[in-house]
Amino acid sequence: MRSLWNEDGASRRAGDLALRVYSSRLLGSDPALVLHGGGNTSVKTTERNLFGEEEQILHIKGSGWDLGTIEAAGFAPVRLAPLLRLATLDALSDAQMVNELRGAMTDAAAPTPSVEAILHAVLPHRWVDHTHADALIALMGPHGAEERVREVYGDSVVVIPYVMPGFALARLVARMFPEQAHAGTRGMVLLKHGLFTWGATAREAYEQHIELVTMAEDYLRARGAWDVPHPAPREVADPMRRLALAALRREISNAAGFPLVMAAHDDPQAMALARHPDVDTLATQGCATPDHVIRTKRVPLVGRDVAGYAEEYRAYFAQHAALSAQPLAMLDPAPRVALDAELGLLTVGRTAQDAAVVEDIYRHTIDIILRAAALGGYEALPPRDLFEVEYWELEQAKLRRAGRPAALAGEVALVTGAASGIGRACVEALRARGAAVVALDVSPEVAGLARRDVLPLACDVTDSAALERALERAARAFGGLDVLVLNAGVFGQSARIAELADGEWERVLRVNLDANLALMRLAHPLLKLAPRGGRVAVIGSKNVPAPGPGAAAYSASKAALTQLARVAALEWGADGIRVNVLHPNAVFDTGIWTEEVLAARAASYGLTVEQYRRNNVLRVEVTSRDVAELAAELCGPLFAKTTGAQIPVDGGNERVI
Ligand code: ZN
Repeated sequence: MRSLWNEDGASRRAGDLALRVYSSRLLGSDPALVLHGGGNTSVKTTERNLFGEEEQILHIKGSGWDLGTIEAAGFAPVRLAPLLRLATLDALSDAQMVNELRGAMTDAAAPTPSVEAILHAVLPHRWVDHTHADALIALMGPHGAEERVREVYGDSVVVIPYVMPGFALARLVARMFPEQAHAGTRGMVLLKHGLFTWGATAREAYEQHIELVTMAEDYLRARGAWDVPHPAPREVADPMRRLALAALRREISNAAGFPLVMAAHDDPQAMALARHPDVDTLATQGCATPDHVIRTKRVPLVGRDVAGYAEEYRAYFAQHAALSAQPLAMLDPAPRVALDAELGLLTVGRTAQDAAVVEDIYRHTIDIILRAAALGGYEALPPRDLFEVEYWELEQAKLRRAGRPAALAGEVALVTGAASGIGRACVEALRARGAAVVALDVSPEVAGLARRDVLPLACDVTDSAALERALERAARAFGGLDVLVLNAGVFGQSARIAELADGEWERVLRVNLDANLALMRLAHPLLKLAPRGGRVAVIGSKNVPAPGPGAAAYSASKAALTQLARVAALEWGADGIRVNVLHPNAVFDTGIWTEEVLAARAASYGLTVEQYRRNNVLRVEVTSRDVAELAAELCGPLFAKTTGAQIPVDGGNERVI
C-alpha cells in the first residue's frame, strides 16, 4: 500500500479541520482500508468558548458520513473532558451513550458523533486514524489471531481482544492501552476488527497507518497468501440462465416478505469462491468485520436452498435473541449474498444501490477469505458476537424509524422507447417509486440514462435476438422482471389509405405490433416469476377508440396492440400478471411529434397548432410526464385488482366519451 500524501495538497488546507478532511479522504479513497461508512478519524483541538475559557475539543467523524467523501460539516465537535469522564463508568447503554455524546457537543446542529468517540478520546494523541484494513483482517486466521499480529508487529502495537464496538470497546481500551503502550508503540490492533494509528500531525497518523498495513500485506505476500488466484471461469452455456436467476430471486423475495433486487456476477473473482471446493466451510464462517453484518447478513446462502437458509436464520435469531435483555424484532430471514456454482455471486438488496453496496463489501470479503485460507484458514467472529452487532440497540432504533418503502421498491421494470418522451418519463416515474429500470431504445442516446438503478441498452425492438439478449442482461443486473412498459412506437408517414405504401404499413406494424408480441412472449416466463405478480402497461393511443384520417397504419397497429393486450390479460390472469392499456392523446413532447406532423394533424382537423394542443374537454395540455405517472401508478398497488382496462389520458375527448 502506497502513501497518497501530497504535501502540496495538504499545505493548501488551512486549519486542523480542513487537514482532517484531507487525510480522512485519503484513507476513505482506498476500499482496501474502508468500505461504505466503515472506519473513523478524529483530531483534538483547543478552542475558546463563549466565556473566554479554553476547552479541549474532539472533532470526530459523524455517524452517517463516509470517509471518502467527508466534509468539515461531517465532523462532530465534542468536549473532551466529559468523554474522558464517561470512559470511567462501569456501564453505559448505547442510547445513553448517544445522548451523552450529543449533549457534549459544542454545535447542536452537528451530526451524531461516531460510536467510537469515547475510544478516540481516551487515546492520548492529537490525530487518530481508524480503518478496517483488508490485509490485517486476512491474517487474523483461526490459529491464534493475536500470535499472527505479534509475528507481524512484535510489541510495536497494542493488541485489544474483540469486544462489541461502542462503549464496551472504549472502556477496554481505556484500561488496556496504558498497560501495553510504551515509547515504541506505533499503533493499536483490534482483533477481528481493525487498526488504529495516531500522530502529532495528520501526516504522521496517516503514514503510520499505511506503513502498518503494508507490513501486513508483506507478511501475506511472503507466505503466498496475497495474490490469490482467480481462475477464469469455465463457460456455462445456459441461454435460459435468466429463468434460473428469476426463480431464485422470487424465492429470496418470498422469504423476505417483499421484493428484492438481485445482481449476478460470474467474473473470475466471484467464481473463485463460488466454485471453491471448500466454499461450504469457507463462506459460512461469518463476515470479515462485524459492521458488514448489517449489509450482508452473517453468512451467505450457498447453493439455492432458500427455505433451508431462512429456517437456519430463524433458529440463529431465536437462540441469540433469548439471551438479550430487550425484546428484539427479527429482521427478514432472507439472504443478502448467495454463492452458486452455476450462477456465481449474487448480491441482494431492497434497491439496486443496496445490492451494489453488498457487492462491494462481498468482493473484499472474497479476497480476505481466500487470503486467510492460503495462510492456513479463515475464521470469523463467533455467531454470538455478530448477532450483537446485527441486532444492536442503535440499528434496531434505525429500523423502527424507517418509513414505508417506496411502492415499487425491490422491483424491476423494463421500458421500451426509453430514450425520450413518454418512455423516458416512464423510466423516471418508475425510479421515483423505487424500481430498478432497464431502459431500451433503438437510439444509442439511451446510454445517457445510466445510473446504479437504470441499465440502458441500445436495442432494436424488431430484432427478437436483441430482445432476448436484453432480457438476459436485465436478469443478470437486477434478478428478473416485474413490470413491462410497452411504449416504443412509430407514427409513420401521414397518408390516406389510397396513397399508403406497402413498406410503410409493414414498418409501422412491425414496430408497434409485431415487436410487442415478440417481447411479451419472451418476457412472459419472467413476469410469471415476479414476486408480487407481473404487470404490463401498454401505451396505446386515443386513435384506438377514435381514429382519425391519414393514420391508418398507426391506428390499426395500436388497435391490434390493444386487442393483443386484452387477450394477454385473459390468458395471463391465472399467472397473476395484470395487463392494462393507456390511451394518451396529443402528447406533443415525444419523439414522434415533429413540427411537420403536428402541423399536418392540426390542419387535418382545421385547427391551429395551439388549438390542437389543448383540443380536449378540459382544455389542458397532456405531457409525457402525465402519461408516465399514470403508467407507473397502473403497475402499483392502487390498481392491484385491475386488469384488461383501457384508460384514456387525453384531457377528455368528446369522441371517446
Ligand atoms: Zn471500526
